[in-house]
Amino acid sequence: MMINEIFKSIQGETSYVGLPCTFIRITGCNLRCSYCDTMYAYEEGNEMSLSTILETVAGFNTKIVCVTGGEPLSSKDTPLLIEGLLDKNYAVLVETNGSYDIRTIPQKAVKIMDIKCPDSNMSHLMDWQNINHLTTSDEVKFVLSSRKDYEWTKEVIRKYNLSEITKVLIGTVFGAISPKLVVQWILEDNLDVRFQLQLHKYIWEPQTRGV
Ligand code: SF4
Repeated sequence: MMINEIFKSIQGETSYVGLPCTFIRITGCNLRCSYCDTMYAYEEGNEMSLSTILETVAGFNTKIVCVTGGEPLSSKDTPLLIEGLLDKNYAVLVETNGSYDIRTIPQKAVKIMDIKCPDSNMSHLMDWQNINHLTTSDEVKFVLSSRKDYEWTKEVIRKYNLSEITKVLIGTVFGAISPKLVVQWILEDNLDVRFQLQLHKYIWEPQTRGV
C-alpha cells in the first residue's frame, strides 16, 4: 500500500494526548477540507508491503499506533493493516474523516472520527450512518473555524445525543479562531465534551512534518 510517512512522536490530540505513539500516514484523501494541513499526503508516498510496515513500526517500539492520513479508509488495504497491528498487540487508533463506512475498521481498534463542520466545506460528504457504529471507546472530533461551526456542532451533539454514545472532542483550526473564546462558549453552554488543542503544533512549528 502507499504510505506517505511512518514516524514516532507523541499523540497530539484525542484522549491519548501526550502519549508516545507511532504514526502511519497513508497516502490519499477523498476530501479537500478548507484548512487541511496534510495536503502533502494527497499523492506523495512509497509503496510498502504489510511486512515492511510492521517491521518499521516495530523499530519505533511504542505501545500505541495511530493509522492516519490523508484518509486511511481511502485504501482498501487499510483494514488488513489494522488487523496486522492488532495481532501484534498494539493499541490501534484509526483517524478517519467520517465520509467512509467505518464498519470496515476492525472492532478492537479505536475509531477517531471527524465530523466535518460547515466551514471545512466538506460537511455534505459525511456518512451520517457512521454515528450508529460508534462505541464509548471511540471518539468523534469537531474542528471549528467560527461561531457558526460551534452552533452547528452544538446542534449535532444534541440531535444525535453524541455525548452519551461516544467521547466528543472539540478543537479549533490553528490560528482561525481563539481557543479561549471556544472554551468560554463550551462552559456557558455546559457541553459534555473534551476541548483539545493540537499539542504538537505548540511544541514544534505548526508546519513541521513528521512530528
Ligand atoms: S480529511 Fe484530513 S487529509 Fe483529507 S482534506 Fe480533510 S483535513 Fe486534509
